[in-house]
Amino acid sequence: MQSEKPKEFTSSLLVIILDVNPAQDILLNSEIKLSSILSSVVAFANSHLMLRTHNKVAVLASDPNSCDFIYSDQDELDFKKKTISSCKMGGSQYELFSHIDRSIKFNIMKFLRDASEVFHMSRDTVFGASCAKALCYINRLQNNLIPGEIMNSRILIITGCDNEGDKYIRCMNTFFTAQKQNVAIDACSLTHDVTLLKQACYITEGSYFRMPKLEGLLLYLQWIFLTEPTSRKKLVIPLAPQMDFRPFCFCHGNLTAIGFVCSLCLTIYCKISPICTTCEAVFKVRSTLPLKPKKKKTKQSSGTPS
Ligand SMILES: [Zn+2]
Ligand SMILES: [Zn+2]
Repeated sequence: MQSEKPKEFTSSLLVIILDVNPAQDILLNSEIKLSSILSSVVAFANSHLMLRTHNKVAVLASDPNSCDFIYSDQDELDFKKKTISSCKMGGSQYELFSHIDRSIKFNIMKFLRDASEVFHMSRDTVFGASCAKALCYINRLQNNLIPGEIMNSRILIITGCDNEGDKYIRCMNTFFTAQKQNVAIDACSLTHDVTLLKQACYITEGSYFRMPKLEGLLLYLQWIFLTEPTSRKKLVIPLAPQMDFRPFCFCHGNLTAIGFVCSLCLTIYCKISPICTTCEAVFKVRSTLPLKPKKKKTKQSSGTPS
C-alpha cells in the first residue's frame, strides 16, 4: 500500500530585530518614544500573523551589548498551554494578539532592566550578532517543520542607528550566511541612511526603506514589508535607493573607495599597515627609496644576441 503524501502548505516566518539602543538620536532627543515604536511593531507582527494561519513571528531586541528574543516560539508554546481547550476572546481582541502584546512589553522591560546594569553609551548596535541569532532561530525552526510544511523566512531590522562602520566583517559574514540560507533581510531606517544595511538588503534581495518622517511607522511597515519579497515586484513600492558598494576600513570604520587589503584575511585598511591587526600577519613593506633605473639593464639585455 502506498502511504498518502502529506498535503503541502506554505508558512512564513518573520523575525523582527528591533534596535532599542538608548543612544539613538531619535530617543535621546525625544523625537519619538520607544513605546510608540513598540506599539507599531506589535501591530505589524499581528498583521503578519493574520495573513496566513501558519505564519510565525519572533521579535529580537538589540542594543550595543547584547541581543535577546522578546517574543519567540517559546512564548507561543506558553500561550497554547494556557488555552489548550479553546481560543478565548479577550474583549474585542483575539487572545493570541493580546498575549503577544503582553509578552513583548513584559520581556522588553526585563531586557532593558538587564541591559541598564551593564550599559555603556555606544551608538553601535550589535546587528551582526542579532542577525546571527535570528539565523540560528530560523535554522532550528526549519529543522522542526511539520510534514508538508514549506517555510519562507525573512528578517526585518528596524533602527534609528546612524553609526555603521563598527564590526563590519561580522555583519558581512552574517549577511552572506543569510544569502546562502535564502533568508531575505529587510531594513527600515527611522532616520539616517545606513550603508551597511543597504548592502545587507542588496546581498539578500530584501527591501531597504528610510522613513521620510517619524509619523506613521505602522503604515510604512505594512505598505512595504508585509508582503513577501518575491511578491513585492507586483506592488507599487518606493524604488530601491542608490547603492553604495564601498566597504568600511577596519582601522577607522570609514567608507573607503581605494585601500589596502590583507592577502590572508581580506581585512581592509585605508592606510598601509605593516602588521594586520586582525590576523597578525607581518607584511614586507617596500622601501620608499627610488629604485635603480632599469634602462641600462634593458639596453644590455636587448643588446645580447638572441
Ligand atoms: Zn581606516
Ligand atoms: Zn590579515
